[in-house]
Amino acid sequence: MALLTTAPRGTGDVLPADSKKWQYVERKLLEIAELYGFRESRVPVFEHTELFTRSVGDTTDVVQKEMYTFTDKGDRSITLRPEGTAGTVRSVLEHGLLNEALPVKVSYVLSCYRYEKPQAGRLREFHQFGVECFGAADPTADAEVISLADDVLQTLGVRNMHLEINSIGCPTCRAKYQQALRDYFAAHSQELCGTCVGRLERNPMRILDCKSPVCSKIAADAPKILDYLCEDCKQHFETLQALLTQMQINYVVNPTIVRGLDYYTRTVFEFVSDEIGSQGTVCGGGRYDGLVEQMGGNPTPALGFAMGLERLMMLMDKQCCPFPENDTPDLYLAPMGAAAQQKAAVLAADLRREGFSVLTDVMGRSLKAQMKYADKIHADFVCVLGDSELEQGTAVLKNMKTGESVEFAVENLTDALYDAQTKLALAELEESAAAL
Ligand code: ATP
Ligand code: MG
Repeated sequence: MALLTTAPRGTGDVLPADSKKWQYVERKLLEIAELYGFRESRVPVFEHTELFTRSVGDTTDVVQKEMYTFTDKGDRSITLRPEGTAGTVRSVLEHGLLNEALPVKVSYVLSCYRYEKPQAGRLREFHQFGVECFGAADPTADAEVISLADDVLQTLGVRNMHLEINSIGCPTCRAKYQQALRDYFAAHSQELCGTCVGRLERNPMRILDCKSPVCSKIAADAPKILDYLCEDCKQHFETLQALLTQMQINYVVNPTIVRGLDYYTRTVFEFVSDEIGSQGTVCGGGRYDGLVEQMGGNPTPALGFAMGLERLMMLMDKQCCPFPENDTPDLYLAPMGAAAQQKAAVLAADLRREGFSVLTDVMGRSLKAQMKYADKIHADFVCVLGDSELEQGTAVLKNMKTGESVEFAVENLTDALYDAQTKLALAELEESAAAL
């Protein structure tokens, strides 16, 4: 039989066997963010296109090449979110959150859409965990956000990450730097790729982020932003470094990091791994002091980061980081015959109301086939219900690990299962105590 179609290129499915991993990671990320005062917000998958062209920036790869943009039936230009910051800023402004006590701290886990060439760690639909902090200009806020990213990676058991930081200054110091870059790259304009020639006038810093080997080679010798920082920006960057050192967070200053999006000011940073191939940037972030005002709000310093969940999980798999095991069912009820199948359905419903995970036969299968199935799903206990069990009102609960069986009155199934589980848990505790 031929399939009607397959998933679009660059998208992925999370299958039932893996969903627990995703739930675990997402929950941990949001929980740890909450320790820092971040609360989750949820924004729409699509927004008005201008939100992204104006905030992400129309000289960026994301806006120039990667957006999923379409005209809807009402003739509006709509774009699937390529990242989470723009929508989050729109949301906090639209709901007046920045008029309340600052800082406002928001976290999110969301899907993003970018029309890119799919490869390992680069998808067209991917997921980001991110945080945004509004209202704090002080470098302690930068250190806090970086320390949160560091914290989640550590908690998930990820090792060997490199934190790279840079400052890309403020509009004042950047103007001088951009001129210096323009002069430098103009001398190489013959060799630059087409896109970068276009960036030369409008945003030469973008060239530093170009992935073409020729452009990156030229960029390596370009003037460095750190030599152009104004006193305030320099002070901010130095304080941040001192804080990171005191927090025992290892970092290196990498003056070539400019980040892919237009809205950044001052601090930018990336957490990079060299264990998952060329798409090694797991987390990227920084400060964006001008964005809120640019989007119509009062001038409000802000900063944040976004972590790619596919890259994070790829790294966790590679490093065999611990994930919680999939839960196994507490009980498989194996009925024999139509009457027993109905009785089992009712018993299972009762048990689930008590919080037990219970599976039973809904296929009308033979006992042998059911036992095979109970084995496959690793049920802790199995109980066979046939005509004689129904007539006599007693049945047997079998522990599938030890083979041990106990007889009980069918009407007391909940208590019997509870007792058997307690006994099993105690035995396991004793076993692990003995092993210590
Ligand atoms: P890259 O340089 O790899 O293209 P980027 O600078 O475009 O990354 P950001 O916009 O900063 O990425 O997004 C933050 C994080 O989201 C990245 O560090 C990465 O982990 C993840 N990410 C970005 N694009 C993709 C993608 N197409 N597929 C999977 N993850 C992605
Ligand atoms: Mg990119």
